[in-house]
Parts: sequence; C-alpha cells; structure tokens
Amino acid sequence: MDFFRHPVNLRNLVVGVDMKVPLSNGAFVKAINFDNAATTPPFSSVIQEIIDFSPWYSSIHRGTGYKSQFSSSLYEKSREIVGKFVKSDPKRDTVIFVKNTTEAINKLSYRLCEDHKKCVVLSTCMEHHSNDLPWRNKYQVDYIALDENGRLCLKDLEHKLKKYDGSTALVTITGASNVTGYKNPIHKIATLVHKYHAKILVDGAQLVPHVPVNMKPWGSLEHIDYLVFSAHKMYAPFGTGVLIGPKTTFEKGDPDYVGGGTVDMVTHDYIRWSAPPHKEEAGSPNIIGVVALATAIKTLNYIDMKYVEAYENNLTSYALQRLSNIPDIELYGDKEHYGDRVSIIPFNIKGIPHHMVATILSYEGGIAVRNGCFCAQPYIQNLLHIPLDEVKKRIDDPTADHPGMVRISFGLYNTYSEIDTFTNFIKRIIRYKK
Ligand code: PLP
Repeated sequence: MDFFRHPVNLRNLVVGVDMKVPLSNGAFVKAINFDNAATTPPFSSVIQEIIDFSPWYSSIHRGTGYKSQFSSSLYEKSREIVGKFVKSDPKRDTVIFVKNTTEAINKLSYRLCEDHKKCVVLSTCMEHHSNDLPWRNKYQVDYIALDENGRLCLKDLEHKLKKYDGSTALVTITGASNVTGYKNPIHKIATLVHKYHAKILVDGAQLVPHVPVNMKPWGSLEHIDYLVFSAHKMYAPFGTGVLIGPKTTFEKGDPDYVGGGTVDMVTHDYIRWSAPPHKEEAGSPNIIGVVALATAIKTLNYIDMKYVEAYENNLTSYALQRLSNIPDIELYGDKEHYGDRVSIIPFNIKGIPHHMVATILSYEGGIAVRNGCFCAQPYIQNLLHIPLDEVKKRIDDPTADHPGMVRISFGLYNTYSEIDTFTNFIKRIIRYKK
C-alpha cells in the first residue's frame, strides 16, 4: 500500500493526531479521527505561524505603526495566496474573507440580484442546509432532482434551465457532498449553466480541501463564477471563510453588514462605499485567521493537492472495500464508482441505530465519527427513501426514531491501519449484537 508514499510523513504535519482519549472503562487509547468532513485538526505549520505572528499583529488597514502596516500587507498577501490556490482571476474576481462557508453563501444571497423575487435559483436535493436555506426566503427556488443512486441528474438540470430560461440567476451546487462524498462535475455543469446565461456557485466546503480546484478562465464556458469554502475543514482554525466572485457583483448596491472598513466617505446624508473586497468586510478583519488559512494553503501546496486527492482516493476505496465485505453493513448510493467521491462514506449497521453505533465507536473504541443527518436532511430522506408525510409524522412524534446514518471521513493524515482498526471494531459490534 505504499505506492503513493509521500517523501514527508504527512502525519507529522498535523497536530494532535496521536493523542490518547479515555474510554468508558477509564482506559486510554490512541484516538482515531474519522470526522474530518466536520473539521480537520490544524497543521503544525499553522500553529507555529500563529505563535510567530502573534507578537506582530495589529489592527489592519487603519494604523500607520509598523505592526499595523506589516499586518495589512500580510493580510493582502494572504488574499492573493487564497485566490491563486483555486485559480481565480485576480483582475476580475474579488476574494472576500468571511466567517465560514455559511456566511459566504448568505452574503452572496443578499448581493446576487437587486430584485430577488424576480430571480430563480436552482439548487439541488443534495445540498448542505447552508447552501439551501439562504436562498429559500429570498428567491424562487427549484431543486434539481437526483438519480436512483443519489447523484445529480444532469438531464433534470438542463430541463429546469430550459423551463426557467431567462430568469435563472444562479445554479448553486455542492462541489462534493458532505453525506455521500459524491463529486459533482462542476465544469460540465458550468458549461450547461452558461449556455443558458445563468451563473454558477460551487459550495467548495468539501471539495477545496481534497482535490485541486480550478475556477478556469473568465470567458470560458467552464468558468466557475462563485466559489465558497471554510478554513476549518482545511487544517486551519475556525473563523475564516472565503467567498470568491466577480468584483462587479459586489460593486453595486449596499453591503449586508455596514460599518467601519466598508466606506471611503461618510457625511450625515452621504455614503460612498469602498471598493470590494473591503466593502464586504465590515469591522476589524480576522487577521490571524486569514494568515492561518494562507499558511495551511502553503502547506497543502507543498504536499501537492494532486497527491492529497490520490492518497485520499486510495484510502476511501480501501475502506469501501473492507466495509462492503462485512455482512450487515448498509452502504448508500453508488457502489461502482469509488473514485468519483471525496473521502466520505456513509453507512448503517442493520438493526443498530446510527447514534448507538457512533456512541459505541467513541466510548468503547476511541474512534470519532459523525452520525445523524449532517445538516442535509432532505438528502438523507432521499437516500433512505423516506416519504415526506412520514418525515412530517416523525417530527410530531417525540418517541419516533430519527433517521440518519453514520459517516466516516478521512483527512490526508489518516492511515490504512486506522481503517483496519475501525473495520475490526465494526465487526466486533456486529458480533456483540448477535
Ligand atoms: N457546505 C458543506 C458541503 C458542508 O459540508 C458544510 C459544513 O459541514 C458547510 C457548507 C457549512 O460550512 P461551515 O459550517 O464552515 O459554514
């Protein structure tokens, strides 16, 4: 299994991966973290940069002191690093720093069109709530259907683009699902979307940390108009998210948040907004978080995203193979095309509720996973074939079991032997049940 061996031991690049955690019997075991789709642990380079930079930081874009000037230039340099990482166009795009993906999508939902009610937004049935709810109360939203494997149905996308031709403002789509890990063919979709003169937003929260992402040149049909992602899923801390899109989108109108940093000139009866991105970054910016994200990106560049993708692909097919050999394991979605997903696998054990499996894994095995609906309830209902009236009945019944799944998700520091430990533990749970 070492034909993808990296010259550097990737485990050494991430902090806290060999920590011991307590079990229910009081013993300590080496923790296994298979919950990277929620949040990844930080790179040690990121922690070191935060320590080194801490004596030097100061409020940015405001002071003339050395530290303030230094911090401002580092902040702007970080913006360049982030934009370059996904190959955005520095002349036409703006890179806006926000809190996380959720805030980025909410921000865009306010800024996309002036007359919301007249615009259609096409979303999909596989989105995280963060790329669904922000559109609902402002736009006319329609959902692109899925096929029997839970993959996006491109025929239905084309059908809906034709149906709403002329009024579709945006097709908003996840780059990779946080439930099944399915990657969507974003450039193929962009080509279709642009043929119908609409724009595309890619929710990159689960894509950008795992594969090389290229927004492609402006003017090409494959170009991604808007891209959003979160630092805490790519080995940097919480509190920094990214929204990239055309400057023109943010030049017109008022920003959603207003205040310091957003204006060039104010009198009691006049406001002149700053140019984007500053117009969209109200208040004192999160300089440490942004520098930390840029450092994480430098480390990912050093590892090479092509390597990250190949290694995680191998881990995922290995785990899928091991899990599919265990009777009583229910896997979801398309079992044929392993390579077409990022490192996320949802499953259930027949006869054991998902929350019980996750609890046993944690308390008896020191293995962290996630269970439930992963903030994607409509997608889970679809994959589990639960009719809407049944869902509604369960909402009103406090004794009803809540449907869901167990999810494992790998980072670049996870290993085959951790997968072996995990699958052996799953077999023990099944034996114990019998
Ligand atoms: N979109 C996807 C696909 C996600 O997986 C997540 C988080 O899990 C989000 C959006 C929201 O990200 P955040 O919580 O960082 O805003």
